[in-house]
Amino acid sequence: MIDKILNKEKLNFSDIEFLLNLTDELEINKLLQRAYEIKEKYIGKKAYYRGLIEISNICDKNCYYCGIRKGANIKRYTIVEEEILEMAKWAYKNNYASITLQAGEITGASYTKKIANIIRKIKELSNGELGITLSLGEQSYETYKEWFLAGAHRYLLRIETSDKDLYKTLHPNDDLHSFDNRIKCLKSLKDVGYQVGTGVMVGLPNQTVKNLVNDILFFEKHDIDMLGMGPYVVANDTPTAKYVLENGLNGQKEINERFILALKFIATCRLYLKDVNIAASTAMEALAPKGRERALLSGANILMPVLTKQEYKKNYQLYDNKTTLFDETKEFIDPFKDKVEEIGEKVGFGEWGDSPHFNNRKK
Ligand code: SAH
Ligand code: SF4
Repeated sequence: MIDKILNKEKLNFSDIEFLLNLTDELEINKLLQRAYEIKEKYIGKKAYYRGLIEISNICDKNCYYCGIRKGANIKRYTIVEEEILEMAKWAYKNNYASITLQAGEITGASYTKKIANIIRKIKELSNGELGITLSLGEQSYETYKEWFLAGAHRYLLRIETSDKDLYKTLHPNDDLHSFDNRIKCLKSLKDVGYQVGTGVMVGLPNQTVKNLVNDILFFEKHDIDMLGMGPYVVANDTPTAKYVLENGLNGQKEINERFILALKFIATCRLYLKDVNIAASTAMEALAPKGRERALLSGANILMPVLTKQEYKKNYQLYDNKTTLFDETKEFIDPFKDKVEEIGEKVGFGEWGDSPHFNNRKK
């Protein structure tokens, strides 16, 4: 059964469901290996970097799962322009080729201008060579356009879950947290011309395998270029975490299951969507040692080394993430090159590593 499904050119709903439901270790390994073969065929044995700069933890939203939500009792920061440019310059000098600017969600005319200026200056300091991905939440079409014209060319906006009812259980019920607006934003990003990335959290409370199958079909329907997916990780003092802990859903057994489900999900996305970029997210590492290498071996091809300095990073804890806090934020040390080479791959230094899907879509 499994061999037949893994060799199919196009999976259907029940095939995807079957793969996500696998429990036998040997069968799971077959799935992960097959996904790796597909990655090799469409992308090669290369991992591309997006140096992550978490420019501010100020957020107007109150997503129930997130550790930097408006209601969180944390010290707020915004990195000044000069320092952001310094980090970008470091990434450029070290051949990272791409960076990602991420933050909580803020909107408004002066914010739009401020970010556009930063994008232009990053382009200037790198002779136009540094690729810029943004992950700055829901904005107007005009803002997305202004940032695109300033030089950003990829945008990440996770749908979090493609199930509207589940989405509602994870967010306050108001206009600021509208599922429909998130979809509208994904469409605007595509219309403006970005390479568009989305994704979901895997293992959310009350999420079913059928939900996850529908997520994959959602990525196909919206012709997504890039995916950023990872397991849900408990964030201290948040409503979702409270629910998870009260219902005994965060024991070591559940954490392991969530991690394996996330690996199977990445692999199945690779099997089904083939030529998209898929990130091995930091959340993978938060749940299991070598989490990101294992994601690379299951079909992911993008790494996002955190460039945010420790003094800021300690206040940018989207979820409880103690390993990476110590492991990776030793300032400006390449945390990945050796690990990538250990698994027989190369880092695509100096290359943008754009989504082949985007290039194929433009043809
Ligand atoms: N504010 C922007 C970008 C920062 S949040 C936005 O929301 O789009 C980036 C991502 O972190 C979110 O899309 C979400 O998927 C992820 N995230 C937040 N809390 C998380 C948690 N507890 N576990 C796993 N991922 C989480
Ligand atoms: Fe803000 Fe993004 Fe966290 Fe939601 S997920 S609270 S928008 S930072």
